[in-house]
Amino acid sequence: MNYLLTIYFGNSGKALFLGKTKIMSYYPLTSIPDYYSIDALLTEEHKLIRDSVRSWVESFVMPKIDEAAQNHTDIPGLMKELGNIGALGPYIPEEYGGPGLDQISYGLIMQELERGDSAVRSAASVQSSLVMFPIFEYGSEEQKRKYLPKLASGDIIGCFGLTEPNHGSDPSSMESKFTDQGDHYLLNGAKMWITNSPVADIAVVWAKGEDGKVRGMILERGMEGFTTPTTHNKWSLRASKTGELVFNNVKVPKENLLPNVEGLKGPLSCLNSARYGISWGVIGAAMDCYCTAVQYTKERKQFGKPIASFQLQQKKLAEFLTEITKAQLLCLQLGNLKNAHKASPAQISMAKRNNVKMAIDIARESRQMLGGMGIMGEFPMMRHAANLESVITYEGTHDIHLLITGMDITGINAFG
Ligand SMILES: Cc1cc2nc3c(=O)[nH]c(=O)nc-3n(C[C@H](O)[C@H](O)[C@H](O)COP(=O)(O)OP(=O)(O)OC[C@H]3O[C@@H](n4cnc5c(N)ncnc54)[C@H](O)[C@@H]3O)c2cc1C
Repeated sequence: MNYLLTIYFGNSGKALFLGKTKIMSYYPLTSIPDYYSIDALLTEEHKLIRDSVRSWVESFVMPKIDEAAQNHTDIPGLMKELGNIGALGPYIPEEYGGPGLDQISYGLIMQELERGDSAVRSAASVQSSLVMFPIFEYGSEEQKRKYLPKLASGDIIGCFGLTEPNHGSDPSSMESKFTDQGDHYLLNGAKMWITNSPVADIAVVWAKGEDGKVRGMILERGMEGFTTPTTHNKWSLRASKTGELVFNNVKVPKENLLPNVEGLKGPLSCLNSARYGISWGVIGAAMDCYCTAVQYTKERKQFGKPIASFQLQQKKLAEFLTEITKAQLLCLQLGNLKNAHKASPAQISMAKRNNVKMAIDIARESRQMLGGMGIMGEFPMMRHAANLESVITYEGTHDIHLLITGMDITGINAFG
């Protein structure tokens, strides 16, 4: 399989073998937990992909991530590198430039990327699930051939515009509108909180037509009246660029409309795919915090003993490992359901909600276990905890996912 070779060696010809790269984590990679022997349930291909991405994160992300986050800037060349390792659109078929992997491979890739940083996983999630997925599922053949291979290689960057200044949890009330002008559409409105908007070459934008139905369209940077102002001063996801999309009488060619979807089902199906990836991704952030806390508490001495010898510290570590293990099992079965096209949106909501809360709790608690050191950039907890404040909010907030589960149980919508 061609793209597996890409993962092992990289398009650039760089060797990404395990053991040949500089190990940057504070803990040995062999200590990353697999407490319930979940590896035994993975294929050899899954494990090779996971280990290759783990190794790439060690060599490319770990040495740069603290500086990027401290400086509120993204890692230079990140998207091309993500393309090289096959992390952009992992499940997009080879004929459109993707590696054609299964959903568990996609999940494992997201897990390893987020062990590095949620910003890195967000970049891959948005490009894969929110830009490539809708073009692949709902685009014309010409749109697929024009955009997907370049998105898969990281030669172009995409973003996804659903959220608006006045409408976040309730996208059905969106105000962005387009009118039919005969030979083109005229788009007006604004989107807010858009990951990668300031650096994106294209944007998949959701707006209402004159009939009030939501449609997706592909905008390209440079279209007249289309601007992408940067959002400054974030305390979270600082290694990721966030911004707005502003449409001021933008003339969108008719061939840029996604022809094969109508209504909120379009953007919501993209979110399902991205939320699935987040459920796996945050396990990586939790693993990074857990492994760091185990290592630190064994080394740090107070009252003449390693702090790992105190029951209170052991309780925390035991609970972290229990929660990580539960999250891994949830994701693995969700991945099986996804591979069989049987995962419901409500099942994905449950995993996203549970796993993000699990990860943010571990990040916050493990930060305390390092005392003053826990607030420093040399250790990852503060960065992960701050990142996860965005992750618990975007792609449906923690409470909105609870309401989705509640509606699935009762059949009653408690949203409005
Ligand atoms: C860093 C970052 C990156 C993002 N990237 C993207 C992106 O690439 N593309 C994109 O389209 N969007 C993106 N978002 C937007 C994100 O999806 C929204 O922030 C999220 O959906 C919440 O919307 P809101 O911020 O408007 O909050 P609101 O919808 O105003 O919610 C505020 C609070 O009210 C609660 N609430 C709302 N409705 C109810 C209800 N019915 N019952 C109970 N409580 C309720 C919410 O749970 C929340 O706690 C991003 C956000 C962030 C922070």
